[in-house]
Amino acid sequence: MLDEKNVLEAVRRRIEERGEASKLGLPDTAKITWHPLLEGEIVRSIETRTQEKRKHYGPIDLSGRPEYDSLARHHVALPKDLTATQTVTLVQRGSVTERSCDCSNGKTACPRCQGRGDLPCDPSTACTVCQGIDSCLRCDGAGTKNRNNSDGQQPTDERATCSQCGAPNAACPTCHGRGRVPCPTCDGHGVRDCPDCERAGTVPHQRCKGTGRTVTWIQGTITRKPLTEKIKHPKAGVPYLAWEGARESGDWDRTHLTHKDTLPADLTHAFRNLVQPHLEPREGEIARQATFKYLRLARVEAPQHPHRVYYVFPTVTSPRVLVLPSQRRTWQITATALGAVLVLFLVLRLVS
Ligand SMILES: [Zn+2]
Ligand SMILES: [Zn+2]
Ligand SMILES: [Zn+2]
Ligand SMILES: [Zn+2]
Ligand SMILES: [Zn+2]
Repeated sequence: MLDEKNVLEAVRRRIEERGEASKLGLPDTAKITWHPLLEGEIVRSIETRTQEKRKHYGPIDLSGRPEYDSLARHHVALPKDLTATQTVTLVQRGSVTERSCDCSNGKTACPRCQGRGDLPCDPSTACTVCQGIDSCLRCDGAGTKNRNNSDGQQPTDERATCSQCGAPNAACPTCHGRGRVPCPTCDGHGVRDCPDCERAGTVPHQRCKGTGRTVTWIQGTITRKPLTEKIKHPKAGVPYLAWEGARESGDWDRTHLTHKDTLPADLTHAFRNLVQPHLEPREGEIARQATFKYLRLARVEAPQHPHRVYYVFPTVTSPRVLVLPSQRRTWQITATALGAVLVLFLVLRLVS
């Protein structure tokens, strides 16, 4: 692990290697701030156990499903892959009840036709052409002359001979003076097929959904779902380029935990303190696996070079030094760029 002396040496070496020693001078002291970086991922398997009454219409084979006595105490092996979802469906021992319905094999008499299969139907209907009112100009469909035809009403071309009273050109051509026509639904037979049961006289029984029997039982369900948590510390305060550099070539301390492992004893104190709060068990947690990596990043400010900030971190060989502009330098650059834009703007104003 780097200490302050190593960090300062690395910065001095970096300035020398770049040939900047004569221009910038080598710093003897520096302000060093340590940033502990932590990255990791925790995958937890979260379990829920629920129980409900089930009802099935018709036959069902439940013999293949595992049985339980107490759902809370029922043992199911831990999932091998914590990232996968697992669902186990069980049947409470002794809860399966099979009942046959009091209907006739799932069928019951059709309530509309009361099991007959047909319905009574009017054998004739009113003639749609004359509405039965104007069926014959002579007899009104009665067969005897009861209309006084002397009120100037003339028979028209469309009139037919009345089949009731025999008067020519007096009757409605559709019903021929009868006022009614045979019913198109029953063809004049007076009965029609029941549309609810299609003549069968029976319909599927509602209560058993036409199956004639029901099976009820108590079902237990054990579900395991993964819960993945990404960890990054600190959330702010470390420039992106420093993070990226450390990710790319830093020599991180790493640890991997499976299931309910505790943290290894040789973990440095700072690493342990950052990780520990994340390992609190969640509700329903049955297993956990985690990977963490930890690195101490040094931020170095040297009084001789106010325009620069050095970031130093260990690699497998020598410490790596990243040089970034200081906050003050960033403002200077921004101000210069804005100044250039302003000048350009004024020049354009003058030209136009
Ligand atoms: Zn019916
Ligand atoms: Zn007539
Ligand atoms: Zn008619
Ligand atoms: Zn009819
Ligand atoms: Zn039934």
